[in-house]
Amino acid sequence: MKVQDIIGLMKPLSKQDRDLVFRAFNFAESAHQNQKRFSGEPYFVHVYETAKTLADLGMSSITISASLLHDCLEDGKAEEREIEEIFGKEILFLVKGTTKLGKIKYRGVQRHNESLRKLFVAVSQDIRVIIIKLADRLHNMRTLNYVPDHKRHRIAAETLEIYAPIAYRLGIRRLNRELEDLAFPFVYPDEYEKTKELSKIRAKEDQARLEKFQRAVKKILVKEGMTDFSVHYRLKTLYSLFRKLERKNWNIEKIYDISALRIIVPNVEDCYGTLGIAHGTWRPLPGRIKDYIAFPKPNGYRALHTTIFTGYGNVIEVQIKTKEMHQEAEYGIASHINYKESSRKDRVSNFLWIKRLIPFKNYFGEGQKGEFDMEDVPAWIKELVEYQETIGKDSITKDEMKTDFFQQRIFVFTPKGDVVDLPIDSSPIDFAYAIHSDIGNNVSGVKINGKMKSLNSFLSNGDIVEVLTKKSGFPRRKWLEYVKTATARQHIRAALQKTQGNIY
Ligand code: MN
Repeated sequence: MKVQDIIGLMKPLSKQDRDLVFRAFNFAESAHQNQKRFSGEPYFVHVYETAKTLADLGMSSITISASLLHDCLEDGKAEEREIEEIFGKEILFLVKGTTKLGKIKYRGVQRHNESLRKLFVAVSQDIRVIIIKLADRLHNMRTLNYVPDHKRHRIAAETLEIYAPIAYRLGIRRLNRELEDLAFPFVYPDEYEKTKELSKIRAKEDQARLEKFQRAVKKILVKEGMTDFSVHYRLKTLYSLFRKLERKNWNIEKIYDISALRIIVPNVEDCYGTLGIAHGTWRPLPGRIKDYIAFPKPNGYRALHTTIFTGYGNVIEVQIKTKEMHQEAEYGIASHINYKESSRKDRVSNFLWIKRLIPFKNYFGEGQKGEFDMEDVPAWIKELVEYQETIGKDSITKDEMKTDFFQQRIFVFTPKGDVVDLPIDSSPIDFAYAIHSDIGNNVSGVKINGKMKSLNSFLSNGDIVEVLTKKSGFPRRKWLEYVKTATARQHIRAALQKTQGNIY
């Protein structure tokens, strides 16, 4: 493990930036000294690999340094004060954000996935924190085999339902695909086997024809006078094949994009030109021509897609795009964030989609507004945009979550990080009953964020709530005035009836 392995993946750095990464590397190495992972490897391997993933995504020295330090507070031997002194407020903010995000455990996976994703985004407060967390999770997934049995399933389910969809929505397909494929066998073992079997049979048939067709495409493009292009093919990942198989009643014959040919050309004009050449040479399958350049997908994806008869007895999807479009499709918002941190002005123009999707003023400087019709953007991404706009530059110092971000619900945590989803203005009593009726019935006091509070307090988003109980405790009639949830009300009434005649 050498710091050069990380720096080598980054764009050329100033001396200052290099020094920063060096310092973070050394600091993290000593903070995790003698610590081991479940795999038996030194703990430092984990933060080192996380940093490498981020370097590969093109993230800046600030984000990469924060990623090297991301487990220092929780698992290492570092103090917040130290990190602030050595690395400054911004890096400390990213480290703390990542730590906070890591404490959440999504027990509710299945029922409230969209809310939980929203929660994840809200808690992070900064997109860089999300990206660090995604890279962190990627390495944890790569080493999931070493994790104790009982934890494995929960981590994989969380990855599939929370992390991977967020990576997708942010356009970071490179992370999204790998997260999905790593989690797939743990969450759906039977479906995984079945999908793998089906794809193996198909892949064998496809491979030879694919290579032959690839050569034919290159030949025709050269013949038409094109010089600056590249052609390669990609296979659909197992998880996305599985999702599609489900939609097609497991009929693999109905899936046309298991393998696809990708043609990368210099500019948009060449994209349409190449499509013309392809259609002039091979017959397209009607109804399969998609112009995502004129009409980008909601997550910003741009390309031309068509499916053609190869002449070798099969059809194949052909994707035509520019280098920038390809870059966007793979790295999404990650490349954009990197641009935000850099000073060169001309860099923004290539990233049209993000300009459309996320018209953050602070991301593009004053005066530049997104002109995109926000209709197609998922609601919670829109909320994220608005949320980020309202907190703007304060985000670094602001620790509190804005409660109006969630209109009807709040999310609070148990001391262990489990999420409890409650109506707004709920009290600690609602919280206690949401966990268990016995806990509700025996409440004797409550700590909110480590401080004793009264039982009629209002809970706010992000509060960590610890319920104190007494065996002799039982509900009081006046609790009925404090509670917002039906569950709490029912349990209190039932308990009061049992102890009828009691003066309380
Ligand atoms: Mn970690």
